[in-house]
Amino acid sequence: MTAEQFADRHIGPDPDDERRMLETVGYDSVDELMDAAIPEVIRWHGTLDLPAPASEREAIAELRALAARNTVAVSMIGLGYHGTHTPAVIRRNVLESPAWYTAYTPYQPEISQGRLEALLNFQSMVSELTALPVANASMLDEGTAAAEAMTLARRAGRSKSPVYVVDADTLPQTIAVITSRAEPLGIDVRVLDLGVDELPAEFFGLHLQYPGASGAVRDHAGLVEAAHAVGALVTVAADLLALTLLRPPGEIGVDIAAGTTQRFGVPMGFGGPHAGYLAVRAGLERMLPGRLVGVSRDADGNPAYRLALQTREQHIRREKATSNICTAQVLLAVMAGMYAVYHGPDGLRAIARRTHDMAARLAAGLRAVDGVEVVHDAFFDTVLARVPGRAEAVVADAAGRGVNLRLVDGDHVGISCDETTTAAHLRKVWDAFGVPAFDGAGGDALPDDLRRSSDFLTHPVFRSHHSETAMLRYLRRLSDFDYALDRGMIPLGSCTMKLNATTEMEAITWPEFAHLHPFAPESQTAGYRELIGQLEAWLAEVTGYDAVSVQPNAGSQGELAGLLAIRAYHRDRGEGHRDVCLIPSSAHGTNAASAVMAGMRVVVVACDADGNVDLVDLDAKIDKHRNALAAIMVTYPSTHGVYETGIAQLCAKVHDAGGQVYVDGANLNALVGFAKPGKFGADVSHLNLHKTFCIPHGGGGPGVGPVAVRAHLAPFLPGDPSGAHVDSRPAISAARYGSAGILPIPWAYLRMMGAEGLTRATGVAVLAANYVAARLRNHFPVLYAGNKGLVAHECILDLRPLTKATGVSVDDVAKRLIDYGFHAPTMSFPVAGTLMVEPTESEDLAELDRFCDAMIAIRAEIDKVGSGEWPAGDNPLANAPHTAAMVSGDEWSHPYPRSVGAYPGTVDRMAKYWPPVRRIDGAYGDRNLVCSCPSPEAFES
Ligand SMILES: *Cc1c(COP(=O)(O)O)cnc(C)c1O
Repeated sequence: MTAEQFADRHIGPDPDDERRMLETVGYDSVDELMDAAIPEVIRWHGTLDLPAPASEREAIAELRALAARNTVAVSMIGLGYHGTHTPAVIRRNVLESPAWYTAYTPYQPEISQGRLEALLNFQSMVSELTALPVANASMLDEGTAAAEAMTLARRAGRSKSPVYVVDADTLPQTIAVITSRAEPLGIDVRVLDLGVDELPAEFFGLHLQYPGASGAVRDHAGLVEAAHAVGALVTVAADLLALTLLRPPGEIGVDIAAGTTQRFGVPMGFGGPHAGYLAVRAGLERMLPGRLVGVSRDADGNPAYRLALQTREQHIRREKATSNICTAQVLLAVMAGMYAVYHGPDGLRAIARRTHDMAARLAAGLRAVDGVEVVHDAFFDTVLARVPGRAEAVVADAAGRGVNLRLVDGDHVGISCDETTTAAHLRKVWDAFGVPAFDGAGGDALPDDLRRSSDFLTHPVFRSHHSETAMLRYLRRLSDFDYALDRGMIPLGSCTMKLNATTEMEAITWPEFAHLHPFAPESQTAGYRELIGQLEAWLAEVTGYDAVSVQPNAGSQGELAGLLAIRAYHRDRGEGHRDVCLIPSSAHGTNAASAVMAGMRVVVVACDADGNVDLVDLDAKIDKHRNALAAIMVTYPSTHGVYETGIAQLCAKVHDAGGQVYVDGANLNALVGFAKPGKFGADVSHLNLHKTFCIPHGGGGPGVGPVAVRAHLAPFLPGDPSGAHVDSRPAISAARYGSAGILPIPWAYLRMMGAEGLTRATGVAVLAANYVAARLRNHFPVLYAGNKGLVAHECILDLRPLTKATGVSVDDVAKRLIDYGFHAPTMSFPVAGTLMVEPTESEDLAELDRFCDAMIAIRAEIDKVGSGEWPAGDNPLANAPHTAAMVSGDEWSHPYPRSVGAYPGTVDRMAKYWPPVRRIDGAYGDRNLVCSCPSPEAFES
């Protein structure tokens, strides 16, 4: 017996399965299949230079050793990252529960009611704390939320001025992200000290921080009025915990609130992931970027949740898009929302009060000693101390006592309290400042006229789940509503819903990874930096690029980072006029949106009848824009799931015209070990670690979208947003290493798979897609194929002819799959009226067959509709999905038996997945927009 290999656990089909699949596809071996499928011009024949695979035990031991090189200090740095106690019931039953973390974005709402309700709680929480009527279902972090607020203000405001005013007391990393986003859009950011400086005569927007980065709590009402007087919109980046005690921004007419929900139970994770938030006043809801959960109704008229206003999402709007956000931070938003559910309004107020009391006591102690001045009288959790010439010494002394403080400048130290602060921590801080024994009281540093008087979190959901028993059952109830990878396969094309192995997940909750502040001193983060360095090196090896940055928090952000690198490169060479980005018509919506955000003009290139980039049209577009050509952005294998043979030619044509080649690496699962974008002609790619490299999708985030470049673009990769390493590089996320807290996941995957395992995974992923295509081809036409009729790692099933003949839509098939116990494949992307299936290497043959059998059975059902045996409007497809309530109802008037509705095909009667609602009417909810928790009466039948 050979030693146990993780790859054998990760890859679903065993050698027997593989043989049977190869037989069906018509090849003798996976190698032979791959030789036939992948064009030789891009094929790479080496062996990946990666360490020999570690076993699960060995990988955990290595991660333990890396973790041991991090130091968990008491963090009082603040700046938007705070210590927090994750309630254990939430940690174990959300963050560590595959029912939550392996779910997909809730595009199929009937199987996603649990996470949709959790997100609605999150939206209600943000909306009520900020006192603004509509909040979205999360942003990537506070910095990017603030940047999105800026562009929203520009679209929505009356002012034509290009000036955006940012108060100097804003988090430095937020200023960095805002500035980076503003530059390509021609927005003129002015950072002003609004305590001293006058507002300019004209500006389109104003950004304020509340409380300020220095801790100061200021009354912003006058500034809001002044901004509105010149037609500008105002964004307040507000601390949600502070808002339990302080007057919320919505009560002084603020237009937009943005920020983070990190301190609501989400560990700092050395920078992320956390859920950012964005809330707007009435009238701006239809311009809000990101996803919005709303209430609608199902076929029986019962309330049901679904994503609202889908048509304004980036994947539809393409080059007219105003934001590129796609993957957000759903899992973390669920955690933060549940933190509010568990503590309730009184609990949150008590946490805020205790935090404030600690800060007030801290300040009183500091005031008691000569040579220390407390700068602000009004503060919530952060005290700014003035110690002329001594700041560095004080910070060093505190570090020696195991407490990290914020070094503001040579004379000032910032100290932030949070819910984890204890009396012992205060004592250490006082010792660092030379405060003798102090046991005085603190008093209250909240200004009287800025106290919150309004109630919040009034909905029963925030008042009913405060015992652990109630909370546990609420979490279980919601997750039971949902279909995630822990129930069965999720064959979503372009999403790569593969195994998220438990061993990969294990390290993320260890304190040495979870509890580090992103601005902690380097001496405390050696383990993290080594892990990140190794991961970046391995990703560079896998992709053939020279340098990698893990800073982008999603694929969309990697795209922006990559395009900004291209832009900076052209400018650096005196070719700043190059601003045209060619994008094939089949591209993912984020591509065009990112190009617009990078200040580029999008020119669409047609696809030919085979779905490939039309090289004739490409020539024409290159000719037309030769002097202005900045880049082409293509997905490889194509979004159609095909290894296009023209790729090398395409790269050469664009390079000859002086352009750069961006390969969207979302489909890297079809290339790893067989081809390297950095070697077949591309200059830059982003990868989706939440696809190919096993970060779970979390119901719509977190994600990590590293950007990988060849050497000539390396100087233009993202920089350090904290300003600790000043240079001209852009800030793509608020933290230098983005969502560092989840990087142990791809690290563990790469470490345990090794070169051979990764290569085998790619081969099996391609085999599985071709197996599905082969089995289904006679029932549904497979739309596109490449060499020898083979697809890559996914295949598109064309339903349009059937829809035309029978009226059965792609939606009907997707909903009917729920009755058969499946999550639908990707619907109508990249081609309307089709289903795109990506099985991944992790599903075994039994599961692949269960899916193919279901699809074949559905095809037979469609035929019964076509032949008239079942009427067009009343058949198992049109009525899908069937709920338990429906099929057990006292009335049954449909022309097929209840059992056909409930247990079609070979559905396991003991393990049946029951959707909680019937088909949801999305349009109804868009006409009657409700985006916070509905009253319980709405659910009375
Ligand atoms: C998933 C995907 C993206 C976007 O990635 P996010 O992480 O959701 O921002 C971009 N391009 C393609 C082809 C994708 O499949």
